[in-house]
Amino acid sequence: MKSSSKNIHIGVHKSDPYFNSVVPPIYPSSTYRFANAHEGALRFSGKKKGVIYSRFTNPTVYALEKRLAALEGAERALATSSGMAAIMLTLLHFLKSGDSIVAHNVLYGGTYEFIGRILPRYGIKVHLINVNDTTSLEKCIDKTTKMIYFETPTNPLLEIIDIAKIVNIAKKYKILTVVDNTFAPPPMQYPHKMGVDIVIHSLTKYIGGHSDLIGGAIIGSLEKISPLYLHSYIFFGPTMSPFTAFLVLRGLTTLEIRLKKQTENAEKVAKFLEKHSKVEKVYYPGLVSHPQYDLAKKQMNGAGGVLSFEVKGGYQAGEKLVNAVKMITLAVSLGAVESLIEHPASMTHSELTPDERKKSGISDSLIRLAIGIEDIADIIEDLTQAFQKI
Ligand SMILES: *Cc1c(COP(=O)(O)O)cnc(C)c1O
Repeated sequence: MKSSSKNIHIGVHKSDPYFNSVVPPIYPSSTYRFANAHEGALRFSGKKKGVIYSRFTNPTVYALEKRLAALEGAERALATSSGMAAIMLTLLHFLKSGDSIVAHNVLYGGTYEFIGRILPRYGIKVHLINVNDTTSLEKCIDKTTKMIYFETPTNPLLEIIDIAKIVNIAKKYKILTVVDNTFAPPPMQYPHKMGVDIVIHSLTKYIGGHSDLIGGAIIGSLEKISPLYLHSYIFFGPTMSPFTAFLVLRGLTTLEIRLKKQTENAEKVAKFLEKHSKVEKVYYPGLVSHPQYDLAKKQMNGAGGVLSFEVKGGYQAGEKLVNAVKMITLAVSLGAVESLIEHPASMTHSELTPDERKKSGISDSLIRLAIGIEDIADIIEDLTQAFQKI
């Protein structure tokens, strides 16, 4: 099957042996009956397949995990209760005291906090650098380096990290690569197919797609994911609820058509903003003016629905703008059917110190837009009337 068909069909087959339901059923049971003591022993030892207890896995969650693995072209996926749970588990499973990690210096706010401030408390050395600068990257690597971690495009400035280049370096030194692919889910970008070991998603964003759930995923080869499952996942307990899994399964069925529409809309909004007299600068990898336009073209299929821009007049003008929109919603998050607007310095990136924000290039006048699937005319009209008020 091609990818858009897999997003609809994987995980359905045999998920309901009693009624042959067309969609995967929700199994709320926390525990599963054994026919007898011998069968219970066989299931616990792994000699017989079957569900035991829903913290380990659940039929609805497992159906989603199969679909998520297929989505990235990988062997195994684990669904988690949030994107942060997936990130926490991946970092704490693969890293231990005495190890070091190299991560890109622009990361999702929560991840920046976890890597920069929590990992050092566990004796893990952290290098936060520009990983696109491969000379600095190789300089950081020594025998304690166990992981290279990044997101691409980055949030909120949509900088592109060269996946192939970093995979090459990681392979040379036998270091694990982890990419948070939340901003570019397939078919936009396939990091695992490009050689990245572990792909993480916040399912809360594009994949769920409707601002109605929190979830995460860890995806990779059986060789990498099986030990993570057996030695960490079931004991940390970051399990996803079957009700959430059902919603994500439904979200996945329309992922490709939503992404296509969001990208088309975002391209038009980016061009509109670029020409607007009250806009200083637009950050969108689908614009020819983006300094990494060629790299984005090379490793991505479309630039996605998120863009950011600097308003002339600083924070005050930005504040007026986000207060003046009518249809577009003032809220954080992204990848949903409705368009969202937010102010990174006071919202998503407020955990960073002013100095960290400055180093990351996040100014006080930066506004982030996550474009939805509304009619483009309505989005442009809303922005036009909002700009008139500043
Ligand atoms: C939202 C987000 C996360 C965190 O996911 P939650 O589901 O909110 O826990 C991690 N990484 C990126 C890039 C995100 O956008």
